[in-house]
Amino acid sequence: MTEMPKCPECGSTYTYEDRGLFVCPECGHEWSQTAEPAAEAGLVVKDANGNLLQEGDSVTVIKDLKVKGASGAIKQGTKVKNIRLVEGDHNIDCKVDGFGPMKLKSEFVKKN
Ligand SMILES: [Zn+2]
Repeated sequence: MTEMPKCPECGSTYTYEDRGLFVCPECGHEWSQTAEPAAEAGLVVKDANGNLLQEGDSVTVIKDLKVKGASGAIKQGTKVKNIRLVEGDHNIDCKVDGFGPMKLKSEFVKKN
């Protein structure tokens, strides 16, 4: 039997494979085989204070951030919920109220 990865959403071990995707029967989450969850990829993302950030954390923006293509900036003190960690220069993938999906640098946020 091939070893199946745990569901990154709920940790279920009853994962099965379907058309190249992993599927979790418990929470319905589907994900591709190639995209490893950040935690398993060994991604280390720290906030402005050096605290480790994790998937699903809530953070607060610590300085005004100009947004390309948007009329305003993300204001200092803006709270961002349910972040995702990604590789790269902008290592936080999230949705900001009023701006939509975007990527932030972890050095400009602090963990709530
Ligand atoms: Zn699940």
